[in-house]
Amino acid sequence: MKCSFCEQTLVCKSCNRPFQPRKPETLAGVYQPDTQVSCPECQKVLVCKMCGFIYGEDAEPKESQ
Ligand SMILES: [Zn+2]
Ligand SMILES: [Zn+2]
Repeated sequence: MKCSFCEQTLVCKSCNRPFQPRKPETLAGVYQPDTQVSCPECQKVLVCKMCGFIYGEDAEPKESQ
């Protein structure tokens, strides 16, 4: 699939493998800015190798209430 940010092939920066979501929730998370997406291969936060876009880390820290 393509990176939603740079529209190039989405490759995990951590393990250099193409991101292939196995669950619909994972795929949906890519298009939701405040959802953290983990790479199914290495379980790390997904970072686009091409543009460096981080899927999740730029989310606002959640305040515990
Ligand atoms: Zn990208
Ligand atoms: Zn990975």
